[in-house]
Amino acid sequence: MFFTVPYSRMNQEMRRITRLGGRIVSIKPFNGIAPVATVSSASTPQPIAQSSPVPEQTKKKAMTQAKEKTDIPVNIYRPNQPFIGKCIENYPLVDEGGIGIVQHVTFDLSGSDLRYLEGQSIGIIPPGTDANGKPHKLRLYSIASTRHGDKLDDKTVSLCVRQLEYQHPETKETVYGVCSTHLCNIGVGADVAITGPVGKEMLLPSDEDATIIMMATGTGIAPFRAFLWRMFKEQHEDYKFKGLAWLIFGVPKTANILYQEELEKIAAEFPDNFRLTYAISREQQNPQGGRMYIQHRVAEHADEIWNLLQSPKTHAYMCGLKGMEDGIDDAISGAANKNGTDWSVYQKQLKKEHRWHVETY
Ligand code: FAD
Repeated sequence: MFFTVPYSRMNQEMRRITRLGGRIVSIKPFNGIAPVATVSSASTPQPIAQSSPVPEQTKKKAMTQAKEKTDIPVNIYRPNQPFIGKCIENYPLVDEGGIGIVQHVTFDLSGSDLRYLEGQSIGIIPPGTDANGKPHKLRLYSIASTRHGDKLDDKTVSLCVRQLEYQHPETKETVYGVCSTHLCNIGVGADVAITGPVGKEMLLPSDEDATIIMMATGTGIAPFRAFLWRMFKEQHEDYKFKGLAWLIFGVPKTANILYQEELEKIAAEFPDNFRLTYAISREQQNPQGGRMYIQHRVAEHADEIWNLLQSPKTHAYMCGLKGMEDGIDDAISGAANKNGTDWSVYQKQLKKEHRWHVETY
């Protein structure tokens, strides 16, 4: 069956088809503007039809939208003259029984010129000196709040910080990271040296009808918290999100699902616009019987993700552990292959179009 739907209704229509047990096998632009979805109700997998190339006109529009990098604040505060903010909030994000320490930390920016956008990072300079007696260098942290801040007064910035803890490979002693430990333990009222903001890779397009696929592991949720709060929790005159946001979130245990309550509240309130998928490695099994990592969840939904990527309105974001990239590439390349497409070539094109965004560390 073929359906012709305007972009504004495409995500809604796709979800309706899926709910009814249909399977979307391809989405094609129609007259260079509207896509056509080809649907099969067969439950057995069918080859995905070769997707048509995105028409030049549509491609250009998407690129302009994604490249709307007007007025992006960068390096307002540099390392030689950081802004000294104050911690106003610091609370744990890992529930009892979870692994490690992750804190949500908020700093007061009153009296500074610091502004930022969702998807940017700030630098933190920990106090003290390193092993060579030199002042510590800055560490970057993704901003977890929207440009308006958690208090909605444009005067705060929040971070989601995991305390680095590892065993020294030779001495076997437990080592704690300098800056992450400083931030996780920082008391309310304490000073903090802030630089930045930096980063243009993870910005959110201004398109209200966009499809935003977010793949996060652990603290990689930080920029996506900012996206989701902007989309669903705040009210704006100039941005009323009507598209589809899909978060695929990998964590080791349920107790490690950062911001779980708020995420699930958004999912319950906006079922047509927000989809939440977890990969809980130590509690769920992948089809081979091993641990369920984010790449297994992506593999499970790879055909759907591939189909969504055919629309110039779709942006995919990845944030978190460096190791997550290869597995996700493998997962999506399977779906691309079925379509006769080389994922690495296709991905380069997506990057050129500013639709494939990666920040891993
Ligand atoms: P350090 O004291 O600097 O120790 C780090 C060093 O310890 C490493 O360089 C390595 O030499 C060593 N080391 C680490 N692990 C091991 C190991 N297993 N075995 C042996 N040696 C090891 N972090 C967050 O928590 N939240 C964020 O939102 C976030 N966003 C980031 C965004 C960007 C763009 C980047 C680049 C990084 C981000 N980070 C984030 C990471 C953050 O910048 C720091 O790297 C992290 O907090 C560790 O800093 P630290 O000072 O605590 O560790």
